[in-house]
Amino acid sequence: MSSPSYTELLDLDSDSLTTCVACGLCLPHCPTFRLTGDERMSPRGRIALMLALQTGEAACDDEWYNSMETCMQCRGCEAACPAGVPFGELISGARAAISDARPLPLHLRIGLWALTRPRLLLTGSRLVALLQRLRMLPRVTFLPRRLPLSGSSLPRRTEGDVILFTGCVMDVWQPEVHDACESVIEVTGSTVLRSGPRTGCCGALHEHAGLHDSARELAEHVIATLQGDQQVLVDSAGCGAALKAYGDLLGTPEAKVFSERVLDVHEWLAERSDALPLADVSGRPGVIVQDPCHLRHVQDAHGAVRQVLGHCSEVVELNDDGLCCGAGGSYSLLQPVMATAARDRKVELIRDVSARSGANIVVSANPGCSMHLATAGIEVLHPIQVLAGMLASPGEVVGGSPAGPAGGADGR
Ligand code: SF4
Ligand code: SF4
Repeated sequence: MSSPSYTELLDLDSDSLTTCVACGLCLPHCPTFRLTGDERMSPRGRIALMLALQTGEAACDDEWYNSMETCMQCRGCEAACPAGVPFGELISGARAAISDARPLPLHLRIGLWALTRPRLLLTGSRLVALLQRLRMLPRVTFLPRRLPLSGSSLPRRTEGDVILFTGCVMDVWQPEVHDACESVIEVTGSTVLRSGPRTGCCGALHEHAGLHDSARELAEHVIATLQGDQQVLVDSAGCGAALKAYGDLLGTPEAKVFSERVLDVHEWLAERSDALPLADVSGRPGVIVQDPCHLRHVQDAHGAVRQVLGHCSEVVELNDDGLCCGAGGSYSLLQPVMATAARDRKVELIRDVSARSGANIVVSANPGCSMHLATAGIEVLHPIQVLAGMLASPGEVVGGSPAGPAGGADGR
């Protein structure tokens, strides 16, 4: 059915849309297709629906919206596509186009706004942490069970050989990860300047939700506050992918130069692995690696995680080609049924691999993935926490115990 008013909605690159030859090689890499078996929930189906809308052959109906809104934006399809279809760019454009017609729920808009207010975020998180300890707060699924009371890693130096990007929610909810990264970087002989609350949020979640204008504003702010020529190291896969994409997002020479300064912290450490002491072979624990989509499919930096972890542990693979765990930015809030199904599939695999290998430490280099898996009782550390723990005290792991309250890989 033709609908001229809708054809103006999408303005995607026609060449990118028609690059898809409908071969279907991406289908096994798509979590939503794997869960539903529905072509409209596949990359190929989504591209066909985008093309149909853009050419006026389809209407922007509930089926169309549902197809776009259920995409996890994991980009597993893009990494698998032999034709080079830039699916991330296409779905990002589609999500931005529908953001006016389908505004985000109020609670999510408030949450995204709060991410850009570091002091408010810190104060609110401390209040929640206090209420959690006084047992005065009902369990909220997406919140960690025990938020830290301290939070936020204010810069300890005014200068450093490298900048550690500390972001927004991770800085408040998982400051121990930044501490671990700083300690490991310093083992290599480099000093660390933390970006801190003045720089704040990278805008990854805003971009993911289709709020391009907000994402651009945040990108400009980050670049303006991180002038200089030091490398910018990132310990969150989602933030790292966003910072590396500022050049494309803003399209300015300054943004392109900035993006070239950005590295995932594992990429940086892998280049300096000679400076890291090797752990005693007998003391190496087995570590199950969960690859965040934005590290594996977008940054192609998952090899560096293994290289770095290899210094202190036996790496145990999940062998699922990095299929998305369902966290996907704010996806778990917007599409809880699909997000839970993807998470449960991943949890089942983790438990199976743990039982077969005996490994009961699980790592992920993205806070969204670790918090999402924690809602199913899996305690997840950052890979650098494992390394920092082994360097500080061989045989022990800093930042939590695999048999801690959330229960490690076996969920006890
Ligand atoms: S997106 Fe790529 S892999 Fe998927 S059907 Fe199209 S051409 Fe094939
Ligand atoms: S981005 Fe992920 S969920 Fe979306 S179509 Fe591609 S593989 Fe499927």
